Amino acid sequence: MGKILVIGAGGVGSVAVHKMAMNADIFSEITLASRRVAKCDAIAESVLARTGVTIATAEVDADDVDATSALIERVKPDLVCNLALPYQDLNIMDACLRTGVHYMDTANYEPRDEAKFEYGWQWAYHDRFKEAGLMALLGSGFDPGVTSVFASYIKKHLLDRIDTLDILDCNGGDHGQHFATNFNPEINIREVTAPSRHWADGQWVEGPALSHKQTFDFEAVGEKNMYLMYHEELESLAKHYPEIKRIRFWMTFGDAYLKHLEVLQNVGMTRIDPVMYEGREIIPLQFLKAVLPEPSSLGETTKGKTNIGDIATGSKDGQDKTVYVYNICDHEEAYAETGNQAVSYTTGVPAMIGAAMILTGKWTGQGVFNMEQFDPDPYMDMLNKHGLPWQVKELDAPLAF
Ligand code: NDP
Repeated sequence: MGKILVIGAGGVGSVAVHKMAMNADIFSEITLASRRVAKCDAIAESVLARTGVTIATAEVDADDVDATSALIERVKPDLVCNLALPYQDLNIMDACLRTGVHYMDTANYEPRDEAKFEYGWQWAYHDRFKEAGLMALLGSGFDPGVTSVFASYIKKHLLDRIDTLDILDCNGGDHGQHFATNFNPEINIREVTAPSRHWADGQWVEGPALSHKQTFDFEAVGEKNMYLMYHEELESLAKHYPEIKRIRFWMTFGDAYLKHLEVLQNVGMTRIDPVMYEGREIIPLQFLKAVLPEPSSLGETTKGKTNIGDIATGSKDGQDKTVYVYNICDHEEAYAETGNQAVSYTTGVPAMIGAAMILTGKWTGQGVFNMEQFDPDPYMDMLNKHGLPWQVKELDAPLAF
């Protein structure tokens, strides 16, 4: 039984608090706070209607450490679950240190003016959390999050030694819009337009964004083009599993999405540096976000499935093996259960499970941790029970390229 403060009332925050309310034996009191309290109130109404549980709401600017600390002092949670944007990570960690409360999130810190994805800033808090006797759990979404737990499950149960690891993220959903992103457009476009990077033989190999693709036949979705990308879990997996020789991340994109993105990039709309417009500075990508559909509005129309998982090669009992651990999630089922599409669902459910690991004491530690540093079994068990069942398959051969 524990008290939780969730910050961020977007699609992910909405799914997470719905699922927390469905697990009242673990989450005895839930407060949802965000920049605009009206968004929290709307989610609270849906939670009450769907689960019969009343959650508290509050307004906070999480860029303001004093205001966030004051809210934490007032709510007195056992854990702060940060589901706002990556820009707020360090400020919320600071507020947790100041008030003596555990911390978790689903995405690594990014400075606003630079699309730079790395754990360095948050890992630098390790000693301070340790000295305070507090735990910070980083990246309990699907990727990072479940994909990292899949890797530790593979290492614990399926392979004695992992040689290569490929993370495959396929969203086979169709929302019927010309161009929209399934989570925060600003964060999504920064990620997709960043140079590709993968880990090979102890170093990073960089290439232009979206320049390397292959086709893969995803169960329940079909054949899709997937593109080599950098993704933050590569950094922590390379650190915690030095035996893995090559770690890569692939994401599927349709041709129409890529064409729109190319045009937007070519005309400068994805820039994150300020430009002057009618006498004031604006950031083109932030303006673009304002004209794109809100990801949370896509739930009603999105059909199809996501299929996300890890393919690992290595050896078990002296035999070479390729194993695939994956989850398939249906957009319409996710929407029926929580009022949000599967991309929010596949992030919000793991956020609830990460929080449950901390509140139930199944995962404990003092300092800053990534997902793959803990026992995967209780987490994998909760995935099966709370809407994200996974499967294991042995493949005849590794990925083609
Ligand atoms: P949204 O943009 O839908 O939601 C973010 C929420 O945070 C909004 O309610 C927003 O308020 C609020 N917020 C923004 N700034 C502040 C602030 N300064 N203070 C308080 N609240 C603030 O994003 P998503 O729900 O799609 O994503 C949430 C997080 O999950 C992001 O960090 C994203 O990167 C991460 N994510 C992780 C994934 C994974 O698999 N690991 C996958 C998908 C997302 P307002 O509504 O007023 O703008």
